[in-house]
Amino acid sequence: MGRSSKDKRDIYYRLAKEEGWRARSAFKLLQLDHEFNLFTGVNRAVDLCAAPGSWSQVLSRKLRGGEEKSEKGEGGEEVKIVAVDLQAMAPLPGVTQIQGDITKVSTAQEIIRHFEGQPADLVVCDGAPDVTGLHDVDEYIQAQLLLAALNITTHVLKPGGTFVAKIFRGKDVTLLYSQLKIFFSGVTCAKPRSSRNSSIEAFVVCQNYSPPEGYVPNMSNPLLDHSYDVDFNQLEGPNRVIVPFLACGDLSAFDSDRTYPLQLEAGKEYQYTPPTQPPICPPYQQACHLRKNNLLSREDALSNRPNTSQDETEP
Ligand code: SAM
Repeated sequence: MGRSSKDKRDIYYRLAKEEGWRARSAFKLLQLDHEFNLFTGVNRAVDLCAAPGSWSQVLSRKLRGGEEKSEKGEGGEEVKIVAVDLQAMAPLPGVTQIQGDITKVSTAQEIIRHFEGQPADLVVCDGAPDVTGLHDVDEYIQAQLLLAALNITTHVLKPGGTFVAKIFRGKDVTLLYSQLKIFFSGVTCAKPRSSRNSSIEAFVVCQNYSPPEGYVPNMSNPLLDHSYDVDFNQLEGPNRVIVPFLACGDLSAFDSDRTYPLQLEAGKEYQYTPPTQPPICPPYQQACHLRKNNLLSREDALSNRPNTSQDETEP
């Protein structure tokens, strides 16, 4: 079955077109709102990873009373919506666009500038990296994007505010839940009806932002920020997590880094003791074989390498 025939049968794909949404994902946010009442009292909202813009459309319609309507919210307060994405997207009334990377502190600063120093009431993130098809890699990158979104959220969200983000329910998802629980008293994993059953995609709805006392927002992430080590080691107070470090065993026992003289009895030679269980198929086996047969020049080694490519091994 081709992609287009599946798309044609997808009810949300068709509904999105009929109702003027830029993507079928609009229904995911609408259904999350239906369950969690996300938009009540929200005047400043941030849409991270917003392109092509269906979530921003939802925010615009819900907070401003329509894409073409006023800048005022329900309570008469000015409504501000900021949408961030690496990609440019077509303009939307009442939505300010920032073409930027959510892993960068400069993006957080730009959002804050737009809100004139006021914190956001709601941050949503439907971010997804380009899928590689390698599930472990995709889950891992998605988790890193979620953590980047959480980082940026700690810069811009008001205490008590709400954060909603796409999450892949992979095998390490509980670690992400624990990280989110550090910052929010309520964390729920929700699967809207419009999110395909076959997908591991779900959404975390994190309510009541309450960072640890004294927490200072920072963008440090070992994978996204190469100065992480320097930054991390400078973290203080609740930002710095210190776990106990314990040296174990008899402290007068041998130090594993020191080379000690062999304690040989006078007149006795050192006796080699073979390993109790030699490795069955060590990775250096082929190198040993080549060396023994004087075949260790690069060309010889390459021509002697066993062929493990899929094409050759499959019938
Ligand atoms: N919520 C959007 C909507 O309703 O139209 C769809 C979002 S789409 C599934 C995922 C988006 O994440 C892509 O547009 C991609 O450019 C964006 N993205 C991925 N990594 C990003 C990053 N580091 N910074 C900003 N945007 C990113």
